[in-house]
Amino acid sequence: TSSPLGHAVIPIVNKLQDIFAQLGSSSTIELPQVAVVGSQSSGKSSVLEALVGRDFLPRGSDICTRRPLVLQLLQTKRKADGTAEEYGEFLHLKNKKFFDFAEIRREIQAETDREAGGNKGVSDKQIRLKIYSPNVLDITLVDLPGITKVPVGDQPTDIEARIRTMILSYIKHPSCLILAVTPANADLANSDALQIAGAADPDGYRTIGVITKLDIMDRGTDAANFLLGKVIPLRLGYVGVVNRSQQVYSGLADRCGVPQLAKKLNQILVQHIRTVLPGLKSRISSALVSVAKEHASYGEITESKAGQGALLLNILTKYAEAFSSMVEGKNEAMSTS
Ligand code: GDP
Ligand code: MG
Repeated sequence: TSSPLGHAVIPIVNKLQDIFAQLGSSSTIELPQVAVVGSQSSGKSSVLEALVGRDFLPRGSDICTRRPLVLQLLQTKRKADGTAEEYGEFLHLKNKKFFDFAEIRREIQAETDREAGGNKGVSDKQIRLKIYSPNVLDITLVDLPGITKVPVGDQPTDIEARIRTMILSYIKHPSCLILAVTPANADLANSDALQIAGAADPDGYRTIGVITKLDIMDRGTDAANFLLGKVIPLRLGYVGVVNRSQQVYSGLADRCGVPQLAKKLNQILVQHIRTVLPGLKSRISSALVSVAKEHASYGEITESKAGQGALLLNILTKYAEAFSSMVEGKNEAMSTS
């Protein structure tokens, strides 16, 4: 199993992290968080699972996600024999490694009940889960409760307002990418997902529209207009997905499928890396200048450390350039060796 998310970015991020590590620099590439928003049962948890490439989140037609789940993916090295060891670890259960992903799902359910009760209650107290795997890139995904209108079970009368406030507390951060999830069998013009994403990101610089359930649309309706942005335009566009099923819109293949969604996210991450590179470069340059000054004050010839630093800066500069041309589409296959 390998995660569709990160497929393209992993080698690039790895290479850059290596460069920083060699330089002894504390500078690293911090990737933005990705949060899913939308109404209850729109398919948010399913989309995240599909991106990670593993089944481990509570899903269903009822309210399943009742606490924010902060899912930190951490890349590990492959074992010496080439096999991938993948496991999860909860913040509330330190030192216990979960190798069985079905058990991870059970623990999320149990921990949800411990805090929010067993009767549909919702809590804004996070569950924090780390997943270690060689097949992921270091990124944080946030699964959030869906927007609901009518209180059920132990939910308070102001449940809708509470959930909205909870969601906004995550997606208001300018570095958070928003996956706004709307099922194809609902009216996009009434989408809770697009409404709340629009409140946090009015210019649409960090919102990707995701249309789920393309397989269960009513006869005679057509999601093509959604996907083409003809109903509600979005700067970053839409991707249609069918979670755990065959894809249906063959004519719109370039706008459908989980790999397509992962590709879009990857493009945004690459763009993000490109934006942060100049800052990293100038931090390295100024570190070099101070090393050179220090050496000069000793009256030494500075072959070793500054020389090594200059070499790395050179490599980094070449990377930044290769990056720019890749993003601009001039050089699709950037070498990472
Ligand atoms: P959430 O409440 O937004 O997190 O939604 P879930 O991911 O829990 O999904 C709600 C229900 O819809 C579950 O029973 C899923 O299996 C189902 N579901 C999600 N995506 C799809 C899809 O693309 N097609 C179909 N047919 N069912 C889906
Ligand atoms: Mg959910």
